[in-house]
Amino acid sequence: MSDVFDVIVIGGGMAGAAAAAHLAPKVRTLVLEAEEVAGYHSTGRSAAIWILNYGPEEVRLLTAASRPFFLDPGPGFADHPLITPRPVLTLVPPGQEADFETFLATGQEVREISLDEARQLVPALRPGYARAAAIEDAFDMDVAAIHQGFLRRVRSHGGTVALDARVAGLRRSGGVWEVRSVGGAIARAARVVNAAGAWGDEVARLAGLPPLGLTPKRRTGVIIDPSPHQVADWPMVQDVVQSWYCRPEARTRLMVSPADATPMPPSDVQPDELDIAIGIDRMQQALDIEVRRIERAWAGLRTFTPDGHLAIGAEPGAEGFFWCVGQGGYGIQTAPAAGALTAALVLGEAPDAALLPALPFLDPARFRRAPAAA
Ligand SMILES: Cc1cc2nc3c(=O)[nH]c(=O)nc-3n(C[C@H](O)[C@H](O)[C@H](O)COP(=O)(O)OP(=O)(O)OC[C@H]3O[C@@H](n4cnc5c(N)ncnc54)[C@H](O)[C@@H]3O)c2cc1C
Repeated sequence: MSDVFDVIVIGGGMAGAAAAAHLAPKVRTLVLEAEEVAGYHSTGRSAAIWILNYGPEEVRLLTAASRPFFLDPGPGFADHPLITPRPVLTLVPPGQEADFETFLATGQEVREISLDEARQLVPALRPGYARAAAIEDAFDMDVAAIHQGFLRRVRSHGGTVALDARVAGLRRSGGVWEVRSVGGAIARAARVVNAAGAWGDEVARLAGLPPLGLTPKRRTGVIIDPSPHQVADWPMVQDVVQSWYCRPEARTRLMVSPADATPMPPSDVQPDELDIAIGIDRMQQALDIEVRRIERAWAGLRTFTPDGHLAIGAEPGAEGFFWCVGQGGYGIQTAPAAGALTAALVLGEAPDAALLPALPFLDPARFRRAPAAA
């Protein structure tokens, strides 16, 4: 393998894979992934839901811009649909009425429904839990098919995906980044993309650059057997402030989450017993479902920048260094548009016009400006 590329993408999760899939058709692209399996960290641990009315403004733009790709990714990307309809039922317990007003006023494609209609959708809904309800269109995503499709696209365009290749050193020399992996292999490229998820600040430090201030936050998922309820056609269910949610999993099971967001150092994070118990308790306050045992539990990291917006774009003053981090809880549903945008910025091409209003929110330079004088 040649060690000279045009772009080196650090991190082979969804963010890096999507960016590389848009780069590889145009330039020599190398993806360096620390783990033996790409998708081992956040990408393999998501709830796999696409929701339009979720996250800050630029996330909604990226989510909307990604929908056409999910519906039609083009020939050869996957042999079955990447997304399938799964509405979201939002319940309004006492105390969340004001949040619900805002949700209805700002949400797109959201429709208030009666509690009788809500109970038809989810017969386990306890009388008295909710004061109101709303339904919106959303999708289940096949995360593995999306991720593997992107990586396949990298390879089919002559790009290289190197696994078990943790980046341990980065330095700029003679107008080129030298990227050293654990084990000593060195690859060179004029441009690098930092798509290392929770480790984004660590990769910046390796390059001698200041961190953005990323905070990885743990979120837990639990699989239960909800029988005798037949849940396959249930919507995802949440409260307005998202203090818990659940959704059908593999037709007969239910995934439950306490929607926890506990700051953690970057790591192979594991679930905490208390979070599991909180998730089950909150779900059971809303739904009459007996939980006989936990079939599986996991946790993953949702990584946020200090202002909660993603960071996509160039590091000011460090030529050829680009960020694609801070995907929070939206990194799958935004990946097609975020990957295309990252590639456009790296290649100096014009971004999709629909995303222009998102650029000021995304620009990493916002973290480098001196605070305005009081
Ligand atoms: C419980 C849970 C539920 C979620 N639900 C949803 C959802 O419903 N919808 C949605 O859109 N999103 C959801 N998310 C968020 C989504 O999973 C993330 O935003 C997304 O996976 C982030 O992708 P990433 O590529 O940035 O990170 P990762 O998948 O973590 O990839 C980063 C990669 O960088 C690699 N790396 C780190 N350091 C180095 C190094 N030095 N050298 C080389 N490689 C390195 C890591 O090994 C890792 O593979 C959820 C997350 C969790 C935890």
